[in-house]
Amino acid sequence: MFGVMVAKGTVTQRRARAAEVLARLKQMYPEAVCELTHNNAVQLLTATILSAQCTDVRVNMVTPALFAEFPTAELLAGADIGRVEELVRSTGFYQTKAKNLIGMAHGIVDRFGGEVPSDLDDLITLPGVGRKTANVVRSVAFKLPGLPVDTHVGRLSRRLGLTSQEDAVKVEHDLAAMLPPTEWGEFSLRLILHGRRVCDAKKPRCGECDLADICPSSELPRVKMARSVGSRSKKTAGAKKRRSSTR
Ligand code: SF4
Repeated sequence: MFGVMVAKGTVTQRRARAAEVLARLKQMYPEAVCELTHNNAVQLLTATILSAQCTDVRVNMVTPALFAEFPTAELLAGADIGRVEELVRSTGFYQTKAKNLIGMAHGIVDRFGGEVPSDLDDLITLPGVGRKTANVVRSVAFKLPGLPVDTHVGRLSRRLGLTSQEDAVKVEHDLAAMLPPTEWGEFSLRLILHGRRVCDAKKPRCGECDLADICPSSELPRVKMARSVGSRSKKTAGAKKRRSSTR
């Protein structure tokens, strides 16, 4: 069932399904907040770079000491790389991450006057910052449109028939075309929560999923998927609110 994924239905149907998924996710996860501990854009950028191939929990264990020792981009830019490696070692790929953190801080100081830029084209010029990281910073730190596509967002978007793309940038563009820009960031956060809690990569729990009746990939018997998009089920409408927080 989870082999080749295709965007299901016509463009109009996919747009309607995207709108329904958006509405239901808001009910299911009323609070969608970034789980990476941070107090400003530099700290969020730092934590997001460290979160590559690492859990948010682990990142949150190392950042307090890192932020305490290097509280500004200026101080991080002048840091000894060996010391930064030591501080971020447990997040994995620590040599590359330490190099990118110092390079990122240099870029902010040298080219952006010490302030994290909010423009995506500027953000992705910084070492270690790709579109996903840039979109996290834009949506979380600056409250600007930004739709981070990580492994959860990509997988769920395909399973839900919202895209057939494997490439993260193409997934981002497909989703962005169907959703209001003001919703992009929280939509991503909520899909990540749903991916972590219900729609597991290997064992999706379709029986517990409030999207099952509109999900083309549901493993539930077809009879339970007969409801049309837009006619929200009583079960879903009354779904128990899940506390939500991520990243
Ligand atoms: S119905 Fe199953 S495959 Fe579809 S979103 Fe829910 S858990 Fe994932």
